Amino acid sequence: MNTPPLLQVEHVSKSFGGNHVLQDVNFNIARGEIVGLLGPNGSGKSTLLNLVTGFGSIDGGKIDFDGQNIGSLPAHRIVNAGIGRTFQLPSMPKKMSVMEVAMAASTSHHGVLATVFGSGGARKAEADAHAKATILLEQLLLTHVRDLPSSALSGGQKKLLGIVCALMSDPRLLMLDEPTAGVHPNLRNDIVQSLRKLNKAGMTLVIVEHDMHFIREVCTRCIVLDRGRIVASCHPDELASNEHVVQAYLGSAEKREPAEPAKVAEVA
Ligand code: ADP
Ligand code: MG
Repeated sequence: MNTPPLLQVEHVSKSFGGNHVLQDVNFNIARGEIVGLLGPNGSGKSTLLNLVTGFGSIDGGKIDFDGQNIGSLPAHRIVNAGIGRTFQLPSMPKKMSVMEVAMAASTSHHGVLATVFGSGGARKAEADAHAKATILLEQLLLTHVRDLPSSALSGGQKKLLGIVCALMSDPRLLMLDEPTAGVHPNLRNDIVQSLRKLNKAGMTLVIVEHDMHFIREVCTRCIVLDRGRIVASCHPDELASNEHVVQAYLGSAEKREPAEPAKVAEVA
């Protein structure tokens, strides 16, 4: 029997005014995959992540997660359905400590009633969130800064804290928007190891990333967006020989902005 895909995106489109950012986007993500979402700057990657996770509404099409239509659900219901995400530019309350930011991302709270009527549920939920945050902060190498205000973190450490926050809700699908951008190279391998471990434990991953070494090390398949359309779905090793991918990054000089040399070299 065929298992249905975990995520199904069908004919999704999105415009901002006259800017057609996504056009007839179709793809599936199977359970257990680690998929890289690639494309030049401005091709619509973050917008696609936003639409799947409820940060913005689709103009047309359908998004199903585990058989449930999530296309019109608000972000918090999509988290509860089992999708976690990080942001390209993480933003968090500056004065809260790293531990507090992580705990605030917990979804296993018992709500106001438990606190008011003193069922003990709220205290247990807090203890559970603390225990989970402790483990995740250790896994993402943030234990030594857990009591610092989040404003004291470097850009890379904020990315790591973003991953911790996304993991606090035990997602089945984790979508990461440029997780290694600004992260110190020494930490990059730790992120690779953490993501592999999560995948081994059953988590499905979609990763927006420009670093081709990272893509080759981590991803089992890549989807490539070019100006709002999917132009390729292939193994990372096939990217360099895929003419649509090369065209997306190189393009023709008169029609496009020049791509950044490092990225062109990597893909071509
Ligand atoms: P990528 O992540 O691939 O670099 P984005 O999804 O961030 O690309 O952006 C794709 C296009 O959509 C860009 O032209 C960007 O200006 C536009 N865009 C994204 N979000 C908004 C928004 N909230 N309002 C208007 N335009 C937007
Ligand atoms: Mg982006």
